[in-house]
Amino acid sequence: MKLNEHYLSLEESYLFSEIAHRVSRYTAEHPEAQVIRMGIGDVTLPLCDAAVQALHEAADEQGKKETFHGYGPEQGYDFLREAVKNYYASYGVTLDAADIFIGDGAKSDVGNILDLFDADNTVLIPDPVYPVYRDTNLMAGRRIVYMDANRENGFLPMPDPTQKADIIYLCSPNNPTGAVYSRDQLTEWVRYANAQDAVLLFDAAYEAFVQDPELPRSIFEIEGARTCAIEFCSLSKTAGFTGMRCGYTVIPGDLKRGGASLRALWLRRQTTKFNGASYPVQRAAAAVFTPEGMEGCRKNLEVYRQNALLISRTLTDLGIWHVGGVNSPYIWMQCPNGMRSWEFFDLLLEKAHLVGTPGSGFGKNGEGFFRLTAFGSPEATQEAMERLKKLLA
Ligand code: PLP
Repeated sequence: MKLNEHYLSLEESYLFSEIAHRVSRYTAEHPEAQVIRMGIGDVTLPLCDAAVQALHEAADEQGKKETFHGYGPEQGYDFLREAVKNYYASYGVTLDAADIFIGDGAKSDVGNILDLFDADNTVLIPDPVYPVYRDTNLMAGRRIVYMDANRENGFLPMPDPTQKADIIYLCSPNNPTGAVYSRDQLTEWVRYANAQDAVLLFDAAYEAFVQDPELPRSIFEIEGARTCAIEFCSLSKTAGFTGMRCGYTVIPGDLKRGGASLRALWLRRQTTKFNGASYPVQRAAAAVFTPEGMEGCRKNLEVYRQNALLISRTLTDLGIWHVGGVNSPYIWMQCPNGMRSWEFFDLLLEKAHLVGTPGSGFGKNGEGFFRLTAFGSPEATQEAMERLKKLLA
């Protein structure tokens, strides 16, 4: 028996455990400190009423013989695929319901999609990055080429036509940087992916934060994307579903490589390895897409948006370079006075009792940067910004 040795060469993911360790050591020594956490990537507001009601109704259905649901379709119930299709249509993207696959969240699908691709492929991944893209490829022993995201390109790397690529990862609005690609920039990426015969994996987990109508929410708003892109989306941030687990992956019927339909291959993969998201969760997800559900989600998103704007304005007033915070729940700031990421982490914790995420934990280009998130309460965010002003003004 031989192990997959690629697992053994993975680096320990120590970012969040190191943060927890430093915070608990500090609070043990300073029990009076009122620590505010601005590093969390999890939502804090509850589900909207429409989703809760649908969940209750589905639970009741599961308790009666006449309405009980056992195994469902692996690719999701039609009622939810239709709801997602109509959601896309509401901002001008026409999809086939067959292009939409319901899953238990974007993280699983982003990892599992790699089943379709050979281990010899060359993968383009931005640095800094959501670590799942990197680690899932390292697990398969794939060759990764990192694209530098930095202050010069606004943390939005663009294609290098001389670089060969088979698989490309883009995330917009971005985690961890909050940067958002423009329509022209994504058009360039789509042209490049088609020219390379590559597959563009587009993570749209934060699309619901995009308010500027000039900015694309889906890669399928871009001409040519149907022949090169797969989109991953999630109800985690849109509707507070992090603990519910529901997402969707879109693979257009036009996407073919080596003469094969990727949509057909993914269906084959899912029907073999996945038994579908749970019925009550899919019912709750469908309720999110009703007018009442959308209104409930909008109210919650507005709270996070206002938090993000407040953080961004405070940093602007302090003269600190940053991206994100607009059309995104993440704010990516340069550490003041040339500080390194962990140095700034310690300063913030000790002098302002604030916790964020050191940028260096997301890749080498994150060194000297720091991520703040807008998922806290308005009161905590306001208090945190007062403390930041006191510390840095
Ligand atoms: N993609 C990105 C960029 C994320 O930041 C996250 C979660 O933080 C996910 C995907 C995972 O989302 P889900 O909760 O749907 O698995």
